Amino acid sequence: MLKFTDTHQAYPPKRDAEDRRRDFAEIYKAFGDKAAALQSARCSQCGIPFCQSGCPLQNNIPDWLKLAAEGRLEEAYAESSATSTMPEICGRICPQDRLCEGACVIEQSGHGTVTIGAVEQYITDTAWGEGWVEPVRRGPDNGLSAGIIGAGPAGLSAAEKLAEAGCSVTVYDRYDRAGGLLVYGIPNFKLDKAVVARRVKRLEEAGIEFRLGFEVGRDAQLADLTDRHDSVLIATGVYKARELSCPAGAPAVPALDYLTASNRMGFGEAVADFDGGRLNAAAKRVVVIGGGDTAMDCVRTAVRQGAKSVTCLYRRDRANMPGSAREVKHAEEEGVVFEWLAAPDAIMGNAQGPTAVRAHRMRLGLPGPDGRQAPEIHPGSAHEIPADLVIAALGFEAEDLPTLFGHPDLTVTRRGTVKVDGPSLMTSVPGVFAAGDIVRGASLVVWGIRDGMDAAGSMLKWMSAQRARVAAE
Ligand code: FAD
Ligand code: SF4
Ligand code: SF4
Repeated sequence: MLKFTDTHQAYPPKRDAEDRRRDFAEIYKAFGDKAAALQSARCSQCGIPFCQSGCPLQNNIPDWLKLAAEGRLEEAYAESSATSTMPEICGRICPQDRLCEGACVIEQSGHGTVTIGAVEQYITDTAWGEGWVEPVRRGPDNGLSAGIIGAGPAGLSAAEKLAEAGCSVTVYDRYDRAGGLLVYGIPNFKLDKAVVARRVKRLEEAGIEFRLGFEVGRDAQLADLTDRHDSVLIATGVYKARELSCPAGAPAVPALDYLTASNRMGFGEAVADFDGGRLNAAAKRVVVIGGGDTAMDCVRTAVRQGAKSVTCLYRRDRANMPGSAREVKHAEEEGVVFEWLAAPDAIMGNAQGPTAVRAHRMRLGLPGPDGRQAPEIHPGSAHEIPADLVIAALGFEAEDLPTLFGHPDLTVTRRGTVKVDGPSLMTSVPGVFAAGDIVRGASLVVWGIRDGMDAAGSMLKWMSAQRARVAAE
């Protein structure tokens, strides 16, 4: 260990940008065994590992780095999977620069962080390859039944933990595949869908029932599920797209419609709006509005669909954008042009489609109530960016769940997210819990996993206590 003084930081080899532009395959190649061991050995085995505090799952990072450095990969896998239901997924898509790697002391001392995410992915991909990933170990049947609404990372993580405890678990999802945004939001070049599918298969094989194409609010109300199960988890994510506030002569395409269509094409499905051109960037001048992860996924998808040009408009500067700096770098390498400090004033065009985005230059003014400098229009800076396809990637809000679920007693915050009791994650409806984006607002996969696992623990306690109470009456 402690090799950071003489071993340079290295990520797994990245495919050449020109090559990446032509397909949707993941952009990183796998770490070689030697490289992974060497990179793991850069860790200084801190007595107080800040990387661990920076990880929402509190992963025991120094221990599995040491085991990986010594080539003891099966033990490294056992250690890393002890605190995470999806280590290879987090290794691929956590914004590590803002989490574990951002907190690494070696990074802070200027030597370049230990490449924690890449090693985590390497360990678990090796475990899958070697057959070390065991079936979910179901506990003896405890007679308790849990219903989970939403098969995203939060719902799937809760399902796994509840099955391990011996509950009978049913997961309801309105999509036709399980995985939530792992499947229909995040593109293949960040997360291969086969990686998600093998996780879902493992849960199916553990006897977890998936009722797909089942929309709560349409096919059942929340009360139907509370009647059917001893406890229910709401893990429905946030799907109401924020809309552009500027006048639009032609409509902008919502980012998730665009990405979902692209992901469905990846599954070999026919998508009418793609074939008809509405959700297809081929040969078009594309303008994406927004600066988060979703916007980055849209610009990079448009490149791969063969767009003539791709421009990203963001109203703040590079240093203040919400998306991962690493993703911006990938996008720039792939040919995306960023117009920092630019905001749309109008979408020009007609019913046939857009012709341009009229934009203002912005400057950053005084900090607002959120502490972030507020963007202000630079007078006289209006200019036009030609566009044949405009994609709005301005973030997501919660749907109106109390109305949708026919349950006015379900308390929500001013933002529409479901209100929970802090430690237990129980909602205002007894026995109904909530986890993931529907509680936090648009967040991260790793937080969904954390919440899902925590909620499962609380549900179990609640169900057991209820049963004991009924038995005592
Ligand atoms: P979701 O993944 O949204 O899953 C919710 C599920 O609930 C869905 O399957 C949905 O169909 C289902 N559902 C909703 N309503 C109902 C209903 N009424 N009845 C039945 N089922 C219902 N995070 C990262 O960490 N790294 C990234 O790189 C990253 N990239 C992203 C890219 C995009 C384009 C987007 C949109 C998000 C990205 N995120 C990323 C965020 C991350 O995907 C989410 O934070 C995470 O998926 C939230 O998990 P969840 O389980 O709470 O919700
Ligand atoms: Fe880092 Fe995410 Fe893995 Fe935690 S789960 S160690 S934050 S990559
Ligand atoms: Fe190793 Fe960095 Fe974590 Fe310290 S902070 S234990 S050097 S990965």
